[in-house]
Amino acid sequence: MELFDLRGKVAIVTGGNGGIGLGIARGLAQAGADIAVAGRNADKTREAVDQLTSLGVRAVGLQADVTDAGQVQQMVDATIEALGGVDILIANAGMSIRKAPETYSLDEWTTVITTNLTGVFACCHAVHPSMKARGGGKIVTIGSMTSIFGLDMAAPYTATKGGVMQLTKSLASAWARDNIQVNCILPGWIDTDLTVGARRALPRLQESVVERTPAKRWGRPEDLAGAAIFLCSAASDFITGTALPVDGGFSSSMF
Ligand code: NDP
Repeated sequence: MELFDLRGKVAIVTGGNGGIGLGIARGLAQAGADIAVAGRNADKTREAVDQLTSLGVRAVGLQADVTDAGQVQQMVDATIEALGGVDILIANAGMSIRKAPETYSLDEWTTVITTNLTGVFACCHAVHPSMKARGGGKIVTIGSMTSIFGLDMAAPYTATKGGVMQLTKSLASAWARDNIQVNCILPGWIDTDLTVGARRALPRLQESVVERTPAKRWGRPEDLAGAAIFLCSAASDFITGTALPVDGGFSSSMF
């Protein structure tokens, strides 16, 4: 058994059509996994599938909104149908609405919570029966530095990311008996569409992230690939319920 080999494994990556999700999907594909890319934007998904296929694995694109439990179940069923099972879930899809806490409508609050927290639970819940039946699996959730720190312009987002980290621990504890390891990756500031929006809203963000991060740079989507391969492979079979920062040192440094 090669510790980091994912050949013969099937991974679902929600939000795998761009940003961090695609960076992770490419990493898992390079380690040999077949990939189901799930997202709402069909054009982005098609391009991602082309990229993954060119790495020599099987890849399928699935239309799925993680806020809709029916679509989440169809995503799992379609993956099993197309690729033969589910061994790995990367519960990555997420979004933010940025504003001062007192200005959120309850609808805006609910949109963020439903996508980032309920959506993660829905995906984990939907893959559990097939992983259990297969004798095990690997789930990686995506937290954030806001799983640890507050952020004034992102109160619901920080609430979801703290929640995702705690949910990860509970699922890890419950599903260890099914040989399903559940771990959380906490990315630092990564250059993606999501943070392009944040940089537009906060003009000093670009420089302050570089200053505040010991590695003195923004992360790139491919920076997440190594941690994801590790947490999806046999190399991490006795590791569950952890939260692993991939942040250039951001969370270990006061300044
Ligand atoms: P992007 O905006 O680039 O990607 C978000 C992805 O999520 C898209 O592929 C999008 O696909 C998908 N998505 C959003 N909403 C839904 C939905 N309702 N159903 C299905 N898919 C959805 O952002 P990032 O790559 O930066 O973010 C990925 C994850 O990483 C998020 O959970 C984010 O919170 C987290 N993160 C990001 C950080 C960063 O600095 N960039 C730092 C810490 C955490 P589509 O539009 O096709 O639906």
